Amino acid sequence: MEEIFKNSKKIIIKIGSSTITGEDGKIDYEFLENLASEVKTLVGLEKQVVIVSSGARIAGVSTIEKWSKKEDMSYKQALCAIGQVELMDGYRKIFIKQGLHIAQILLTKADLENEKRSLNVKNTLFTLINENVIPIINENDTVCVDEIKIGDNDMLSARTCILWGADLLIFLSDIDGIFDKNPKEFKDAKLLKYIEDIFECEKNVSCGQKSSFGTGGIKTKIQAAKLLHPYGTNIIITKGKTPKSIIQILEGKGVCTLIKGEKL
Ligand code: ADP
Repeated sequence: MEEIFKNSKKIIIKIGSSTITGEDGKIDYEFLENLASEVKTLVGLEKQVVIVSSGARIAGVSTIEKWSKKEDMSYKQALCAIGQVELMDGYRKIFIKQGLHIAQILLTKADLENEKRSLNVKNTLFTLINENVIPIINENDTVCVDEIKIGDNDMLSARTCILWGADLLIFLSDIDGIFDKNPKEFKDAKLLKYIEDIFECEKNVSCGQKSSFGTGGIKTKIQAAKLLHPYGTNIIITKGKTPKSIIQILEGKGVCTLIKGEKL
């Protein structure tokens, strides 16, 4: 693990909805404080960091305190629009305490698929990073009707890895890693600490029910790993609420799943 970390200059950290939110359904500021200090440590070690953050919809619900049961797409998107501001406000206030400036990038699938648009995104991303600003990426939920249904930030992270040429993708989830079956349903589920062949592994993992907040479940993380496989990006999945989760893992102490990338 130490070796992987040493060779990883470009790191993307994806924050799941249940990680950014506390038990009360509001933004978990303690988690953000911990994250900011971890990012600061990484920057101090001359790593470059990009964050992909979920949580806009939940932040929207806790801000406006209504519409949580509304099924209309326009209300769901309205909640994301409200919550995105709240989310970035939280990141900005906490990251600046560590002397870190942040920037918001909202993307749609089309932004990454269209050559001209993706080049623009790439240029902005590289400029921000070269100037030591931490980009925080999310889906542009207001224009992505499909995305709101599938909550594809796991795939968005993977696509951003490809765009930027990231070495390491860290999923901060509500779970220690990938198990052979859903540990929330099965007490005897076993953590898969090291996955060398994600395609083979997928055949032996059952994904069960989705969590209540997260929308993708472990399935979209496996999908992301499959997409990233030929690019050689390593992937770590770990529980985001564990204090100093990233640094512990990078020192070889934390609990996680490592999916080895293989550059083809
Ligand atoms: P995130 O907050 O990272 O977006 P998700 O809710 O999307 O989290 O995905 C993590 C959830 O996936 C876990 O809380 C767990 O309930 C569920 N899950 C289903 N199958 C598995 C499995 N085989 N291993 C680990 N987690 C699983």
